[in-house]
Amino acid sequence: MPKPIHDAAVREAPAHDAPGHAAPPALEITDLWAGYGEQDVLRGIDLKLAPRSIVALIGANGAGKSTLLRTISGLIRPRRGAVRLYGEDVAGLPPHRIVARGFVQSPEGKQLFLDMSIRENLLVGAQNRRARERREETLDEVFDLFPILRERQALNACTLSGGQQQMVAVGRALMALPRVLALDEPSLGLAPIMVDRLFESIARIRERDLTILIIEQNVFQVLEMADHGYVLENGVVTLSGTGQELLADDHLRASYLGL
Ligand code: ATP
Repeated sequence: MPKPIHDAAVREAPAHDAPGHAAPPALEITDLWAGYGEQDVLRGIDLKLAPRSIVALIGANGAGKSTLLRTISGLIRPRRGAVRLYGEDVAGLPPHRIVARGFVQSPEGKQLFLDMSIRENLLVGAQNRRARERREETLDEVFDLFPILRERQALNACTLSGGQQQMVAVGRALMALPRVLALDEPSLGLAPIMVDRLFESIARIRERDLTILIIEQNVFQVLEMADHGYVLENGVVTLSGTGQELLADDHLRASYLGL
């Protein structure tokens, strides 16, 4: 079994993780409302991620998926509702404190420093104290996951292909020692072969004892891999179920798979 990439975080888990008590969800969102200015975008979202699950978030452009991740991350202040990480309400905390508590996002569009080396880009992820203390060890684990990055670590990020840059973005998020890792459209702009490789890597990350929330336009592929999925339409969850249940759902097949 691969070593958990975040075992320090596991040790810090709240006391109610102890035997004899039901473990709380890794992430639980209750009646979450958020938006921009006067406009409500999220209108009462409920979501639950079991520890060590992969959960897919599906929805058309503008449904509110990125807004949901930004709200969980603390970049947008919720108007109402709770965001609990392993039972602790983090709604309204500033982003760096939410990262330190274990929710880490790999943003849409990678956002790498292209004129910095791959190694330097990865180290940017290890900002919080806990992550800084373990950064060499975690770096080694990220290189085990993406061996091409070990080979090329001294090169600038601009020398990498789009797929390899996406690996750096995911690796950088892992450097922060997440307990819940959010990936916003990781396959965007990748050639199909690279999408396959990336999905294989994501499945391997799961073996490392992490909970993953993933936004994806590759609906079929992501639901094949996911334990659970939620469909977001106009800021409301309209459908949820296991990956296989959603793949069998007529509305989902017609709206998102064109079947
Ligand atoms: P996409 O797949 O296109 O990223 P999405 O489901 O992630 O779609 P969001 O980006 O969350 O959707 O957008 C939801 C709604 O919020 C849209 O109507 C969008 O126009 C609006 N919106 C997003 N960002 C902002 C912003 N910074 N200011 C104002 N409105 C915004």
